[in-house]
Amino acid sequence: MHLQKSVTMTASLKRYCLTHEGLIISVKEFRTSRCMRLIVHSGGSVTLTCPPRTTKMSAAQYLLKNFDWLRRTVERQKVKVEMPGVNTIVATPELTKALRSKAAAYVPGRLKHLAALNGLGYKSVKITATRSKWGSCSSLGQICVSCYVMALPVELVDFVLLHELAHTRHMNHSKKFHDALDAMLPAHNERQLNKIMKTYNIVKP
Ligand SMILES: [Zn+2]
Repeated sequence: MHLQKSVTMTASLKRYCLTHEGLIISVKEFRTSRCMRLIVHSGGSVTLTCPPRTTKMSAAQYLLKNFDWLRRTVERQKVKVEMPGVNTIVATPELTKALRSKAAAYVPGRLKHLAALNGLGYKSVKITATRSKWGSCSSLGQICVSCYVMALPVELVDFVLLHELAHTRHMNHSKKFHDALDAMLPAHNERQLNKIMKTYNIVKP
């Protein structure tokens, strides 16, 4: 087995590549490594770091043992990078918990304020952890708001709330609905804000 010595600035002792099911894994041996570790870089490239004198066989075994996890992680990284201009909110349990309490403290009061400002009424407001939509409004005037709005800039939070409030007048996305919503926006820029909203998405960790 031939192992190429490192000629780069990194402090790795040896480096070579392993391939499995189309994935190329660059293996690097470090004097300071205590155990093997797989690192998935943004863009989906993979490094396996190893302690000194790790055999190619044990590196390959470690790789196979962790390959299912590795493939899933690489796919997720690729998806994230392949969407240019997208602001991805990764919905970890910790973030969800934090945003839920932020939303509970902010959204009901803000919604009440915006409704009063525009002479609109609604029946109730509920905070959810929905990832597929920012909010919803039932025909009975029950408004649901996803806690992930709290990860948006503040003017977009208002935009989501005003969108749902506009549904208390128009239960559709007709021209009348968009006109009513646009009229409630300080800059009357509904189209522009809709475009910006589309650059945000929420993904599972
Ligand atoms: Zn809507």
